[in-house]
Amino acid sequence: MARFSPFEDTLWFATAKPAPQTNPLEGSVRADVCIVGAGYAGLTTALELAKAGVDVVVLEREEAGFGGSGRNAGHCTPTFTHYSLPELRRMLGEPWAERLIQRQTRANDRVSAMIRDYQIDCEWVQNGYVMGAPHKGALAEIRRKVETYNGVGARTRFVDRDEVEAITGSPRFHGGWLHEEAGHLNPLGYARGLARAAMQEGARIFTGSAALSCEREASGGWAVGTPGGRVIADKVIFTTGAYTVGGWPKLDQTFKIQRVFVAATQVLSPETRQSVLPDNTTIHDGRGDIYVYKYNGGGRIVCSMFPMGRRGRDLAYTRQVMSERLTWLHPQIRETIRWDYLWFGELDMQVRTVPRLYDLAPGVVALTGLSGRGVPTGSMLGSILSEWALGQTESELALKLEPLTAAPAYMAFGPALTLRYYRVRDNLATRLSGAALPPHA
Ligand SMILES: Cc1cc2nc3c(=O)[nH]c(=O)nc-3n(C[C@H](O)[C@H](O)[C@H](O)COP(=O)(O)OP(=O)(O)OC[C@H]3O[C@@H](n4cnc5c(N)ncnc54)[C@H](O)[C@@H]3O)c2cc1C
Repeated sequence: MARFSPFEDTLWFATAKPAPQTNPLEGSVRADVCIVGAGYAGLTTALELAKAGVDVVVLEREEAGFGGSGRNAGHCTPTFTHYSLPELRRMLGEPWAERLIQRQTRANDRVSAMIRDYQIDCEWVQNGYVMGAPHKGALAEIRRKVETYNGVGARTRFVDRDEVEAITGSPRFHGGWLHEEAGHLNPLGYARGLARAAMQEGARIFTGSAALSCEREASGGWAVGTPGGRVIADKVIFTTGAYTVGGWPKLDQTFKIQRVFVAATQVLSPETRQSVLPDNTTIHDGRGDIYVYKYNGGGRIVCSMFPMGRRGRDLAYTRQVMSERLTWLHPQIRETIRWDYLWFGELDMQVRTVPRLYDLAPGVVALTGLSGRGVPTGSMLGSILSEWALGQTESELALKLEPLTAAPAYMAFGPALTLRYYRVRDNLATRLSGAALPPHA
């Protein structure tokens, strides 16, 4: 099996605005900072640094957005997956937890400002996100989310059964959590727009230019070698995420790959679109084994799930699961659902599903572990990584610098086991509450 599934399979490849013209690196160039990897983390860092007058070069193995940033489902929800805010505080300690919480929960202000300031044409809609309660027992946790997220300044609220049905068009939820600042976009269009913006500010981006090595220079800087040339820079930042191929020894061992698949329906009829997600929000079905969906700018529903057992392996069955789940959530759908696009992508899973910043050598850092909130997280990380490059001290940074650590072996199956545990937990709680289970639950 190829390491990465074909980039050309995605809806975004078919619909995003073209990338800015870039070329492979040829010969030797000098820069203050060399960034390796043109996903959201690398591109927003390049944009921040170029704006601050820093001479920055980005090296990308393929093209801007080739990794998770061009293949994701496109929802931009400034929250954390998996951990509640109190759990994060216990896990990270202070001041790290509060700093990260502030950046992450304000990330959509940055996303919308960058889209506005650089006129990025990427189907950006900021109409909110709803996490539905699949049974009454889930309501207490939703009320806790409202309290903790609003406690750090987010605009979220509890919605009762009638209101959640009015917003989502689904009669299946017993209430919900509405996060008003959340949005969605065309992820590849956004990545390409960030590349254009960074170049507009003076960053140089070289595509088709894999970083093959990174070695200390006698002058004190670093030489990053590519097939056609090299970049001599004072500082180097690796933002190669789940798509890491070489560049720095053992960087690809800091995470294990978790595959995710995304599918997009045909363009739905005006009748369906009026009653399914009438407010153009994003929906999370509230289960740990997620079903998350929203519209793209062209009226297709774009939906993501994790592979589990036959799901993700047998594509006809996978399409059937997705259709039956969607029509169960929205019994008003009268048309036959087709999934015109179905593609896979990779997440860089670590024990903690929050980004980790590795101190590789004096002047060299790497970042991995953005997980399933990479659109807002990658976008806000540009501010943290640029602060590091501009000389902010370790104690002031919003992410703790850590030594490079390999992900434990159990991470190879840990996320899959966790998903199965969630499924059992949610099915039991749904049954005990007397609510209906979705098909293929
Ligand atoms: C299928 C899928 C669905 C998702 N859905 C969502 C969602 O709806 N919302 C959300 O918020 N998040 C989602 N995510 C997560 C999000 O997409 C990622 O967390 C985020 O895009 C990661 O960004 P990044 O900048 O860290 O890395 P990437 O975007 O992966 O970029 C890394 C880049 O580094 C390049 N590279 C690798 N090695 C080298 C090298 N040696 N030299 C030069 N370049 C190199 C790669 O080619 C790649 O372009 C999803 C992820 C996937 C896979």
